[in-house]
Amino acid sequence: MWHPYAAMPASPAPYLVDSASGVRIRLRDGTELIDGMASWWAAIHGYRHPVLDAAAHAQLDRMSHVMFGGLTHEPAIKLSEELLAIVPAPLRRVFFADSGSVAVEVAIKMALQYWQACDRPARNRLLTIRGGYHGDTFMAMSVCDPVGGMHHLFTGALTEQVFAPMPPVEAGDEQWRSQTADLVERHSDSLAAVIVEPVVQGAGGMRFYSPAYVDHLRALCDRHGLLLILDEIATGFGRTGTMFAAEHSATSPDIMCVGKALTGGYLSMAATLCTDAVADAISSGPGGAFMHGPTFMANPLAAAIAAASLELLHTNDWKAQVGRAETALKDGLAPALELDGVADVRVCGAIGVIELADAVDVDRVTRRAMSEGVWLRPFRNLIYAMPPYICTEDDLATICRAMVAAAAA
Ligand code: PMP
Repeated sequence: MWHPYAAMPASPAPYLVDSASGVRIRLRDGTELIDGMASWWAAIHGYRHPVLDAAAHAQLDRMSHVMFGGLTHEPAIKLSEELLAIVPAPLRRVFFADSGSVAVEVAIKMALQYWQACDRPARNRLLTIRGGYHGDTFMAMSVCDPVGGMHHLFTGALTEQVFAPMPPVEAGDEQWRSQTADLVERHSDSLAAVIVEPVVQGAGGMRFYSPAYVDHLRALCDRHGLLLILDEIATGFGRTGTMFAAEHSATSPDIMCVGKALTGGYLSMAATLCTDAVADAISSGPGGAFMHGPTFMANPLAAAIAAASLELLHTNDWKAQVGRAETALKDGLAPALELDGVADVRVCGAIGVIELADAVDVDRVTRRAMSEGVWLRPFRNLIYAMPPYICTEDDLATICRAMVAAAAA
């Protein structure tokens, strides 16, 4: 088997997991690890949550899947209603996809079909900011950071997009604002949309930037009639301290992608939401339909679990959970600032990052964290945690200790 971003065979070999419950992963050799990654940021309620397990069992007894072409079902209807109740108000239509990358493909396809319907097919490129990550499929890769992403491997095969500089951490950088305004203006005739991860750039480098710049991008889109796509796949469902990162600046996108934590980390499912204006234009354009429809679209099992997971966010008081994690990460990671070779320590909601001056030795850092009873998956020069929201203060303190020890190692 091939493992993610790995050679064949993977070296070192992956650790064999037997089971997981709560915030703990159990390895075959009996080792128990607190999962500081929430399984790539998705398992926000932890593993084997009784409410999510019950939702899965109940849905299995009705049907695990049925095609979505010409048929519909209660789990999808319920999930759509729950999603529409929490997303920024102008978003009123939901398209279910199978993964985050596909949700991004769908968002971009929506933007392109929108401009075809508006009789402006030349508007078919995207503007984004450097340092982003939007997935591993081809259109998604084309808007990932051109240096840190995979562009060098696929030169010539990727659609050429327009890249603005990374937005600064602090608000009020006039140079960034005017540079970006010029770029949008210069390319506006060929641009369909601006796509960004709002406030937190995840897999592109765990960078945070001021919400004021998301607002600025919205204003530029409005000025030039472009669509704004927000990729909330990593930031959605409370991770940054607001339900969606767009809420830090009250920015409303035209199209938004969610995924990862949507099913509480149980199954692969994502969604692309859009406004009536986008949906209406596409539906009355050439062909009269949106041209996408994956086999497992709106999978009932995933949808039933996702609906239960959204309810759980509310009953668990996610804001208090994320607030507790934020405080614990700030307190627990502060000692890392004293270490040689640590370039920065930053926290936003339930995201804690130790940035080193040099690249980490992934194997060594992983083993050091494991010796502290914690599962981490560092990359580049970043040791970070995005733990399940249900972590106790003790769990969070253990995660922080492991991160600091790993950075010291
Ligand atoms: N967008 C963002 C912001 C992401 O963080 C990710 C996954 N790390 C994706 C898209 C792609 O999602 P998936 O891995 O589910 O395809």
